[in-house]
Amino acid sequence: MDSAKESSAPETGAQYRCSSCGAPVTFDPSQQALACEHCGNSDAVKIPLEEIPEHCIAEALRRPERKGYDIPVRRMRCQSCGATVDLDPGVVAGKCAFCGASAVASVEEESRVWRPESLLPFKVSRDEAAHAYHKWLSSLWFRPGDLKDSAINEISGVYLPYWTFDARADSWWTADAGYHYYETVTYKDSQGNTKTRRERRTRWEPASGRHYDEYRNVPIYASQGLPVSICRAIEPYPWENMAAYDPRFLSGFGAEEYVVDAVEGWSRGQERMNGWEREKCSRLVPGDTQRNLRVVTRFSEAKFRHVLLPVWIVAYSYKGKTYRFLANGQTGKASGKAPYSWVKISATVLIAILVLVLLGLYLGM
Ligand SMILES: [Zn+2]
Ligand SMILES: [Zn+2]
Repeated sequence: MDSAKESSAPETGAQYRCSSCGAPVTFDPSQQALACEHCGNSDAVKIPLEEIPEHCIAEALRRPERKGYDIPVRRMRCQSCGATVDLDPGVVAGKCAFCGASAVASVEEESRVWRPESLLPFKVSRDEAAHAYHKWLSSLWFRPGDLKDSAINEISGVYLPYWTFDARADSWWTADAGYHYYETVTYKDSQGNTKTRRERRTRWEPASGRHYDEYRNVPIYASQGLPVSICRAIEPYPWENMAAYDPRFLSGFGAEEYVVDAVEGWSRGQERMNGWEREKCSRLVPGDTQRNLRVVTRFSEAKFRHVLLPVWIVAYSYKGKTYRFLANGQTGKASGKAPYSWVKISATVLIAILVLVLLGLYLGM
């Protein structure tokens, strides 16, 4: 298209060029390639079948040996939510991808984060994600009419930083198992007549047991740009598509820097697995009901990886509150929150009441 723009583009490692015509190219999720809009050529990004390294937990205490992304990036920090995003210099960052604020400033000091060793590349294209967003938006009820027209439709592709953990869990549990039984009791009613009724009682017996499990790829979001609940809502990720880190996958996208280190990540990972172990042990308690469940879990053979996971995000503020739509960049699974219109809800409730009243009158006649 424009040779002027092409020649003025910064000569950085992050800007890849078409092997056929030399125009700047970015990663195209639908082709899994650096695709050229100029001549139609596409250079496939081969996923090397090398082993993705895993670290034992003790290594989390060490300082990272390999930092950054292996390519020059622009570090941008949002003044509003504090998220730090590293951008391919070719990506224009107007607003913060996480909160929609436009107060985004570049950070001069160099990134000190661990070099990611693996990632799930984007598979869902920008157009597919935008389509999913509009479909989601139009499926909502009782939303303010101006929501759909407002200029909130900027969709950003961002790699989120995660720690993933593998571990063996050995749990010991104790609980009181309750068994129901029925007794016939006699009582006097208000007229003084003797009557009988069956009442339920519970007999409590101590119970205990063990439970073993192996967890693989337990994902822990390692940053602060997004609430954990919305990140979990778009799980699971297809881990079998994991690729060794290659900076070309980042071309055209941003990557959020982690703020939760691997040590803190491991304690959150254990918390998450503890929750699952508790549920599983609870199911093992015999009887009809239970109380005083205590579970002690010991983790062993724990390993971790630093991975980047792809998401499409639409973030915007509406009347001072932040709302977001997220789609898993591999599976397209989406989740979001949008403001309600109380005017529309009240109107609907009033109409419903009116219908009921009229129906009541009609049936009463
Ligand atoms: Zn080309
Ligand atoms: Zn922000």
